[in-house]
Formats: sequence, C-alpha cells, structure tokens
Amino acid sequence: MRIVGLTGGIGSGKSTVSNLFKAHGIPVVDADVVARDVLKKGTGGWKKVVAAFGQDILRPDGEVDRPKLGQIVFSDPEKRHLLNKLLAPYISSGIFLAVLKLWMKGCKIIVLDVPLLFEAKIDRWTKPIIVVWVDPETQLQRLMSRDGTSEEDAKSRISAQMPLDLKKARADILIDNTGSLEDLNNNFQKALVYVTKPLTWTEFGLS
Ligand code: ATP
Repeated sequence: MRIVGLTGGIGSGKSTVSNLFKAHGIPVVDADVVARDVLKKGTGGWKKVVAAFGQDILRPDGEVDRPKLGQIVFSDPEKRHLLNKLLAPYISSGIFLAVLKLWMKGCKIIVLDVPLLFEAKIDRWTKPIIVVWVDPETQLQRLMSRDGTSEEDAKSRISAQMPLDLKKARADILIDNTGSLEDLNNNFQKALVYVTKPLTWTEFGLS
C-alpha cells in the first residue's frame, strides 16, 4: 500500500486537491477530521485539553468551544505548542486507525491530507510527499475571501505557520496552485501520474 502525503500552507488549496483525489477514486484521510474527533467530549484528548486549559474552554453542552480554544492558542505560541503536544499522539493513532481500515478494505493508494505533515513528523510515513504551493499574495487574497477575515488577521494566521517555501523545498511533487482551477486540474493530472506509478527501490527508501 502507498501512503501519499498531502500538505501545504493555510488556504493554499489542500482541500481542493484532496477533492480531486476523491473524484479519481483515491481515498483521503483528512487530519482535520481526525483532529475534530479526538477532541470530542469524553475522549482522551478532550480530558487532556480540559485539564490543561480549564473548564472555560467548554460550551454549555460540554463540547470544546473550538473557536474559543483557537483564539487562545492563536495568540499564544506556547499554548499552541502545548495543545499540539497534547493532541499529537491521539491524532497520530486516529490517522493510523483510519489508514488501517482502508488497508483492510484493500485500498492500494491512500492520501493523507495533513496540514502539519512536517511539523508533526508524519512525513516519515508517506511517499511521495505532495506540497500544494501558492504565491504569497494569492494565498492572502484567497484566505481573506474564503474566511471573510481582515488582511491583518489573514497575515498573522499565515505567519503562525511553517513558511510555505520551506515545505516547498521538502516536496517530492510540487503542485503550483497560483493559477486558475483549470491550471490546478492540469497540474494535478501530472501529479496523479507520478502518484500512481510504481516506486523504484530508491524512491521507496531502500536503496
Ligand atoms: P486550509 O489550510 O485553511 O484548510 P486549504 O489549503 O485546504 O486551506 P482550500 O480551502 O482548498 O485551501 O482553498 C482555499 C480557498 O481558495 C478556497 O476558497 C478555494 O475554493 C479557493 N481556491 C483554491 N484553489 C483555487 C484556484 N486555483 N483558483 C481560485 N480559487 C481557488
């Protein structure tokens, strides 16, 4: 089974590319979905986060108030680091379980859509690694128009992440998403050929 890593920057087009994979019948494990599941009321992740951040981050129904928690960690890098550290093991096992289920169903190629693929060191499980790249100005404009946020807010969310050019440098396959959706589809088709071709021993890491 091949596990393809899919990552990029905020608003660079990962979900759009992930939808193209699904449209081509290739299953995608979405780390954001896993991250939501591991924070559901009563789970191990929920208990750790409530113990660390206090009852104030809970809604009246006991679920984590995600926007509130997001605001807290967004403005405080230490708290962001703590949250990532607390949830990382649960997210890793959630991803592992999701991959296992697909493997047991007989899937030969699986895409892991993980925004923090490098930061969480999940890249070591994946080959090839696809980075969806976009130029900084386009990234800013798309983020502002998708989320209806101010330029200042969008800029600080972008700068809170690992620089996209560092991710670009670690890509096996770069999908440039600076152009139109049609351009993206063309770039995706080229990537798809590489993703579905047999790997050489060297590419597989067994040189
Ligand atoms: P996040 O990290 O926030 O989850 P993402 O990397 O998944 O973001 P998308 O949501 O796929 O990014 O794309 C960001 C926005 O840009 C969306 O509104 C999407 O519809 C739009 N978009 C993506 N690619 C293009 C394109 N080539 N042309 C125009 N708009 C695009």
